[in-house]
Amino acid sequence: MGELEQLKKWVGESSNIVFFGGAGVSTESGIPDFRSVDGLYNQKYDYPPETIISHSFYKRNPEEFYRFYKDRMLFTDAKPNEAHRVLAKLEEQGKLRAVITQNIDGLHQAAGSKEVLELHGSVHRNYCTHCGKFYSLNEILAMDGVPYCECGGMIKPDVVLYEEGLDQGILQRSVNYIRQADMLIIGGTSLVVYPAAGLVDYYEGNKLVVINKSVTPMDSRADLVVTGKIGEVFSQLSI
Ligand code: NAD
Repeated sequence: MGELEQLKKWVGESSNIVFFGGAGVSTESGIPDFRSVDGLYNQKYDYPPETIISHSFYKRNPEEFYRFYKDRMLFTDAKPNEAHRVLAKLEEQGKLRAVITQNIDGLHQAAGSKEVLELHGSVHRNYCTHCGKFYSLNEILAMDGVPYCECGGMIKPDVVLYEEGLDQGILQRSVNYIRQADMLIIGGTSLVVYPAAGLVDYYEGNKLVVINKSVTPMDSRADLVVTGKIGEVFSQLSI
């Protein structure tokens, strides 16, 4: 049986699928990932991206942080692709329980997914660091440079920067979903960002699928590896 047929068969048989994904899920929507050859990490900036999007850099140099963030990490025109759409449909059909994502772009929700666990937060939520007032992405974009609250406090996107910890509640819910899953599909992630990547170790079943266009550290442990673009792969599932 070919990889795609195997994937179709398992999806057909499963009723408790969990999807764990990363930046590669959104590249077909026009959002660059970090580690592909044309990803953010291979472009030239004054500082390496992992330095700019760290907590200490944000504190020290918010102007430069926001210049990079607004210019390179916000894609307001991006639309969900076939991967987002099929995952939303699988949930609607009662086959998929949760999408656990490292992405911050909100495209799973835009495609209609309901149970989305955002390990690294979302660009769509922003808070005043002084009074806690909420600001939408459009409000942030309408402010030049560093966005400030009407109270004078600096506004921070609700995204997890390097050096910051993950939300313990979301981590625990992710662990529970993965433990109970009858099928775990991992897609579009290099699985090198911890602790997020470590979550897949909680899977106890025998339908571990990796869909990625390049090799991942999980391939040798996977029950099925599908090499390709995730949107194209999902579009062939005919769901
Ligand atoms: P990564 O850049 O480290 O890895 C992306 C992986 O996806 C690579 O292995 C690449 O080969 C693969 N890939 C790229 N396009 C693909 C496609 N169309 N189909 C299948 N595979 C594809 O991304 P990561 O593992 O998610 O870790 C990077 C961190 O960057 C995350 O923590 C995330 O928060 C953040 N990030 C988010 C976004 C977003 O929200 N869209 C974009 C860039 C980075």
